[in-house]
Amino acid sequence: MAVEFARANGRHEIVQIELDVGECCGVMPEALALGFESARKGTMAQDARLAINRLPGVARCAACGRERAAAGYAGPCPACGSARAEIAAGREFRLKSIDAR
Ligand SMILES: [Zn+2]
Repeated sequence: MAVEFARANGRHEIVQIELDVGECCGVMPEALALGFESARKGTMAQDARLAINRLPGVARCAACGRERAAAGYAGPCPACGSARAEIAAGREFRLKSIDAR
């Protein structure tokens, strides 16, 4: 995807690819880095640096609206005790920027 983008813009080499990856999106940065290592060989991105911005996950209580770190998503709300919560942030998985030349 990044290679096509760079080619379409008349660039020859990708220097850095930056991704936003939320804690709750289900993608492990380590797996991402491994996949990147094997996918970039022989492409214009072979010397590119992969920068991953890990975005914190936030869970919001469905009863009182209190927000907390999504690491505690499974437990009851510390404010009201409700077990119902939703993910308010941390599902991001997007290409943030590509530096090419
Ligand atoms: Zn609550």
